[in-house]
Amino acid sequence: MMLVRQIASVRCKNEKCDCHEQPIFLPFSSPVEMYEGQRRWPKEFLDVRVVCRECRHWYKYLAREFDIQMVLEADLPIYLGPVVWYVLIKCAEPDCGPPSKWYVADDTGLSLDDILRLVFASTPEITCENGHSLKRHGVQATAMNLMNVGKD
Ligand SMILES: [Zn+2]
Ligand SMILES: [Zn+2]
Repeated sequence: MMLVRQIASVRCKNEKCDCHEQPIFLPFSSPVEMYEGQRRWPKEFLDVRVVCRECRHWYKYLAREFDIQMVLEADLPIYLGPVVWYVLIKCAEPDCGPPSKWYVADDTGLSLDDILRLVFASTPEITCENGHSLKRHGVQATAMNLMNVGKD
């Protein structure tokens, strides 16, 4: 059985951004069996917010905006480049809904604190799905390095 992973990347939507042509990678999918005409992406990535490390702007992306590559599981080690941080931020408004998901790709060794600072200081002011400011209200944030997601 041939296992592959899907690697999605997006491009910063800020036209003035230096990194405009550089892909920003999202975490690898879990290994899936290869089949003809494959283009499946885990549900949790259907609507993501990505903060660009270069210009510090964030944008929402839908799955159809992703560039998706397939990588054979056996070839994976050569793709272990950028680190992807995944930050969950819970809105402080009562019953507002699930935490919003934020992604930051970094290849410069930023710490968790650096990443959180970057997300909270990004432009425009960060909000939950219902438009509440995540700056003015209390938040809970956790971050992890998803480089090895689904790989055990
Ligand atoms: Zn940018
Ligand atoms: Zn909210």
